[in-house]
Amino acid sequence: MHSLYRPLCRTAAIAAALTLGACSERPVDMPEPRIADIVLQNGSIYTVDATRSWAESVAIANGRIIQVGAEEDMQGLIGPSTQVVDLDGRMVLPGFQDVHIHPIGGGIEASACNLNGLTTVEQYVDAIATYARENPDEEWITGGGWLMSAFGPGANASRKLLDEIVPDRPVFLTSTDGHSAWVNSKALEIAGITAATEDPEDGIIDREPETGEPLGSLQEGAIYLVSRHAPVIDLETRTSGLQYSIDMLNDYGITSIQDANVDEEDLKAYRALDERGELSLRVVGSQWWSRAGGTEQIEGFKALRDQYSIGRVRATTVKIMQDGVMENYTAAMLEPYLGQGGKRGIPMVEPQALKAAVAALDAEDFQVHFHAIGDAAIRQSLDAVEQALAQNGNRGNRHHISHLELIDPDDIPRFRELGVVANFQPLWAFADEYITELTVPFIGPDRSQWLYPIASVHRSGGMIAFGSDWSVSTANPFDQMETAITRMGSGGETAEPFLPEQRIDLPLAIAAFTIHAAFVNKHEHETGSVEAGKYADLIVLDRNLFAIEPTEISDTQVLLTMVEGQIVHGDLASL
Ligand SMILES: [Zn+2]
Repeated sequence: MHSLYRPLCRTAAIAAALTLGACSERPVDMPEPRIADIVLQNGSIYTVDATRSWAESVAIANGRIIQVGAEEDMQGLIGPSTQVVDLDGRMVLPGFQDVHIHPIGGGIEASACNLNGLTTVEQYVDAIATYARENPDEEWITGGGWLMSAFGPGANASRKLLDEIVPDRPVFLTSTDGHSAWVNSKALEIAGITAATEDPEDGIIDREPETGEPLGSLQEGAIYLVSRHAPVIDLETRTSGLQYSIDMLNDYGITSIQDANVDEEDLKAYRALDERGELSLRVVGSQWWSRAGGTEQIEGFKALRDQYSIGRVRATTVKIMQDGVMENYTAAMLEPYLGQGGKRGIPMVEPQALKAAVAALDAEDFQVHFHAIGDAAIRQSLDAVEQALAQNGNRGNRHHISHLELIDPDDIPRFRELGVVANFQPLWAFADEYITELTVPFIGPDRSQWLYPIASVHRSGGMIAFGSDWSVSTANPFDQMETAITRMGSGGETAEPFLPEQRIDLPLAIAAFTIHAAFVNKHEHETGSVEAGKYADLIVLDRNLFAIEPTEISDTQVLLTMVEGQIVHGDLASL
């Protein structure tokens, strides 16, 4: 059938003088590539195609997969120039796609005063003092990665600890989740923050209870009171931060991302690396919705989308941050936090304005990427999508909500109904201190049954996709998949699963990082599975995930990562 059909199709295309589009993207006079550049054989290839089929061989030519199947299916494709590699049964997956990540900030932080991985206040103080001593010419000490939980329940990061080690230069350090900053007295002085300074509308200046003096920690919008005085981060710093991140992500088998917050300078950094041939992953950038503005911002988003959607980059998404985080009571809640004087958190965008914003963005075919943690923020985000669909019809923009810490059970079926993708950060779905000390006591046992309800959203027919939120948490997809499957810490932190009914199975965990994430990035026809015609974005693992205990998933190593047929991690010879 194929041999008859194809020439007819070609004839038709030629007759149309190439103006109506040929039957494939290849120019009609160029022959189909019959010889593969690379053939991987004798593997356990979990293709993530529609039937989740397995194969043993895959052939690659010109950056694309040209054949997937059994060893005998590769016969005609192997020529003298073909590299044939015996995988010895090793597992192959499509490259992972992380649909909520901060690679530029994370990469910059890694080379600044980096507190990630440290867990005690003493360690922080040591690391900051060392960094200050080793960098005497830095005008500002910047960086971050500290954990609120290190300061103990209800306690805040104090400027006094910093003043003792860095009295003469400003210090500005963001928390690992990016929702708080720890600053010293010099930084407060430069920003002009005193006991008399009022809290901004969208944030909190933490204060000494008696005097009202600033304590040295700032929440949400209050961070900008100081950060706007810090030195501007130049393009070179951004690109080198990005290079660090890309290396790390390729090592983890990640071949596509959705950057959860880009501005024009970030887009320039992606563009610069792509022009140099060093952008070894695909990027969808989420342009930042300023809550100080309204729909007049959309013209600017369109201009950046036009200018920067080129090569491996798309600037087709807008990020709206609808609330804060539970730990500082800024996540927007339907019912008040317990024992906090009736506080319900802060909806960052007034719900009616949110509806107008989302409808206008959707009408311009932007995808909206929401940050919503509390059940009120999640409901407001879903309501806004509902309004957009009523106004515009379904334009297929695949809006998605990240974080989803506490979903009201009434809202769970709405993900499917509205076609909103549930973009979870599964590493957070186990009973660590954030949950046991900083969340459950403040929302009570009943609401706590609905923390990270991944399986419930899936069972109701909603699509699940995953993102790491690195540098908030590790970007290692295996740690995240293991936690989604076990609801326990992947480092053995907990022995009991947290809300075991919310565990998911391995095929769904893999889909959430591959084909579902590709759907979010509007790229599922080109990536997200190992199928003929798609880009050769694929990875080889040191073990078969289906053949091991779930608690071993996090030990998995990626031996080889390939982006469009180019090897960006590992090498064929050592397979
Ligand atoms: Zn984020």
